[in-house]
Amino acid sequence: MNTKEKDLKYIMHTYGRYDVALAKGKGAVAYDENGKKYIDTASGIGVNCLGFCDDGWVKAVSEQAGKIQHMSNYFYSEQASTLAERLCTLTGLSKVCFGNSGAEANECAIKIARKYSFDKYDADRNEIVTLRNSFHGRTVTTLAATGQDVFHKYFFPFTEGFSYAEADSIEALRSAVTDKTCAVMFELIQGEGGVNILDKTYVQELVKYCREKDILVIIDEVQTGVGRTGKLFAYQNYDILPDLMTVAKGIGGGLPIGLCMCGEKLKDVMSPSTHGTTFGANPVVCAGANYVLDRVTAEGFLDEVNAKGKYLEEKLLAIDGVKSVRRMGLMVGIELESGNAHDMAVKCVENGLIIITAKNLMRMLPPLVIGYDEIDEAANILEKTIKENN
Ligand SMILES: *Cc1c(COP(=O)(O)O)cnc(C)c1O
Repeated sequence: MNTKEKDLKYIMHTYGRYDVALAKGKGAVAYDENGKKYIDTASGIGVNCLGFCDDGWVKAVSEQAGKIQHMSNYFYSEQASTLAERLCTLTGLSKVCFGNSGAEANECAIKIARKYSFDKYDADRNEIVTLRNSFHGRTVTTLAATGQDVFHKYFFPFTEGFSYAEADSIEALRSAVTDKTCAVMFELIQGEGGVNILDKTYVQELVKYCREKDILVIIDEVQTGVGRTGKLFAYQNYDILPDLMTVAKGIGGGLPIGLCMCGEKLKDVMSPSTHGTTFGANPVVCAGANYVLDRVTAEGFLDEVNAKGKYLEEKLLAIDGVKSVRRMGLMVGIELESGNAHDMAVKCVENGLIIITAKNLMRMLPPLVIGYDEIDEAANILEKTIKENN
């Protein structure tokens, strides 16, 4: 059996896959098992922020794998404590709790918010308001947190205590908040929901309103974090500071990691045995993340992300059939004049462009290190594909 046949026979069918088995890659270029070349503008859904197999990242990860690959959370880890220190210094937040995925990071934030409120108020003050069109993960609780009805099927009963407000409306938020609200949780740019960039004034008003009521602000930076929007974290574009922030996808550069950070007010909420994970803070993964931070925080790196994002947007807007582009940094949603985004993405992949979708938008989350020539090539393939299919 070939790769596809084995997959179809032995792996549960939870994904609609492109008809390609990727075999290797370097930077923003991948090759499939037949040696066909692809330009990558997805980075595995915003994960490979330094592209495929960056030399420095490979070295950092392999060297750590040769030193100590795991030791359990009962021991101190140099890689994890250094990563935590750097993240706190870079953000002004106070402490980190490590996990393995975005959903797990969000579970952690939800637990911290509820425990803070339990300790300070009472057990009933446990509700969390999230936004319509949000996406927070696939566990039973993070599905409940996700503000889209399509995710609230089959797996009943879902975790209680979530309500949903329309994005960008402070009135909607006020009416969703009750005496029992302990936190508001949202993405600054709704990724899966269609690259919806929240309005800055709305976000600032929301934070001010929450502060007045001691309602915690949880920002899900799983997709927007680690340079994706042209700042290290998207909240830095909004001149606010969250109480809790979750990070995953890009921070590991391709290895599984999720983490939740909190500010000064929450730094002692969790105590031994209130939370834990076997794999979280894995030294190999943290070595990769430390290397990602070296690169993303290097002088000029984020300026380049912004410059490339702007260049990419101009290229996309020049394509016949592209109606509009929503973008911050290298997080890009492309609205087509007509046609189905998913079908178009399938055709793009056939033509050698790895691209994803979000609702009926085409979506690009290119590796942050993508070159200008590769952006040109990606735009050319998209243009050709739209022309062939209109
Ligand atoms: C991908 C994503 C998640 C879930 O992350 P996993 O690592 O798949 O669990 C949560 N929130 C946002 C905003 C995401 O984009």
